Order: sequence, then structure tokens, then C-alpha cells
Amino acid sequence: MNVPTAPPRVLTVAGSDSGGGAGIQADLKTMLALGVHGMSVITAVTAQNSLGVHGTWDLPAEAVRAQFRAVVDDIGVQAVKTGMLASAELAGTVADLLTGLDAPVVVDPVGVSKHGDALLRGDAPDVVRTRLLPLATVATPNLDEVTRLTGITVTDEQGMRAAADAVLACGPRWALIKGGHLPGSTECADLLTDGRTERWFRAPRHPGPHTHGTGCTLAGALASYLALGHDVPTAVGLAKTYVTGAIAAGFPLGAGIGPVDHGH
Ligand code: PLP
Repeated sequence: MNVPTAPPRVLTVAGSDSGGGAGIQADLKTMLALGVHGMSVITAVTAQNSLGVHGTWDLPAEAVRAQFRAVVDDIGVQAVKTGMLASAELAGTVADLLTGLDAPVVVDPVGVSKHGDALLRGDAPDVVRTRLLPLATVATPNLDEVTRLTGITVTDEQGMRAAADAVLACGPRWALIKGGHLPGSTECADLLTDGRTERWFRAPRHPGPHTHGTGCTLAGALASYLALGHDVPTAVGLAKTYVTGAIAAGFPLGAGIGPVDHGH
């Protein structure tokens, strides 16, 4: 009789999106699609739909610690992804928990949703910059997040190089600068660098509006491919292909911005 073997285990530390398009829900759908076992440490609960975030409630730091210990001490993790960390206290708690963990960590430094709702309040961006980024195997800021983290405004691909250097100075091993918000571009060009090598990942910009959960999905896919044993550049290429397909298959839901599709 064949004894089933466990797939690689991937942990997302992030917020819940009740609408199922972003956050924990996007991460778990991505992980299922990519054949890894997805697990979650929920930092905050959002009341959210296609129109935006209507309320946010943080979990106590003790609940975040207890979820993390329960998962890591028994089941173990082959990769971790962090998303919405809500407050300075929770961002610091997560940094404490990740210190010394023997697994690659993808830090998606999300600050604001597509609708402009704050997902990181008060001093939390400072804590993400000074405590989380040094622990990251890969940091995955988009251009707005680059500006919030480093003060640099990016207007072209040359500017993305300067932004990557500034992000690397915060301590992650790799920076993946996502250029999807570059004005006037017909492409989504992402720059991956560790300070010694540079690789560009390009995809045509998809005109559809249904892109809710894009950043979460990319970071969740990247963590999944790392857990499956790929090196960082290979995992980024595979994750970019996955999210590009998910955006192309994004569908309308509710009266606002629909989600990317994990069934493509
Ligand atoms: N809600 C939660 C809980 C999230 O974690 C995120 C992104 O990380 C968002 C919403 C934002 O998603 P989007 O900007 O793709 O709409």
C-alpha cells in the first residue's frame, strides 16, 4: 500500500479578506493551486468586498504568537510569506517570531489596498523596514510601497534600479521591485536583484480591471515555489507566470474590482 507523503508546507502571515480576493484567502487558493500545503497565521480581520475595506480588527499579539507556535512547532514550514501586518505591535511580534527561523521568508510590504484603505497603521511601516526587511529572503514592494519604504519616487526603469538598491540597503537578500504601476508602460516589468545580479521579468499589461489580490498572489506563489525547492530567480519567474495567468482570468464580482482567478 502506498503511504501518502506530505507536500511542502507554506505559511502565510497576513490579514483576512472576507471577500475572498486578497490576503489570507488569496494565499491559500494560490497554495492549493500550486500543490503545497497552505497554513495561516491571521494578523487582522477585514470586512471587505469588491468596493473596499469597510472595517479592520487586529488580533491580539498573543493570538498571533499562539497561531505561529502551533504551526511551526508541530507541522513545520518550508517557506513563509508575510502580508498585511496591521500595526507596529503586530509587525514587531512577527519579526520576533521569524528571527532564527530556518526557512525562506517572502516579505510583501503591503501598506495600502487598491481602494486606498490603510493596511498598515501608525509606525508599522518603520517596523516593517527596520525589523522585517532584514529577515527577508525576498522583499516584493510595488512602486507605491517603494516610495513609502525608501522615499524614492520611481518614474522609469532606471529609477527601479535605484529603488532596488535602497530596498536592499534595508537588509533583504533579494529585492523584487514590481513595476506594474509604472506610468505609461504597456508592460509589467519586475526587477529582481541581490545587488550582484539583475534580472527583468516582463509580461504584457492586461487591460482588465479585475486585479484584486495581485500582490498577495505573487508573493504567495513565490513562497510556494521556494518551498518546492526552486532557487529565487526560478521561483520569481514561475510566480510571475502564475500571477499573469491569474490576472488575465480575473473576473467581475460585486459592483467594484473583482479578483484574480486561481482556477486558470
Ligand atoms: N486586504 C488584505 C487583507 C490584504 O492583505 C491585501 C493585500 O495584501 C489587500 C486587501 C489589498 O489587495 P489589493 O490591493 O490587491 O486590492
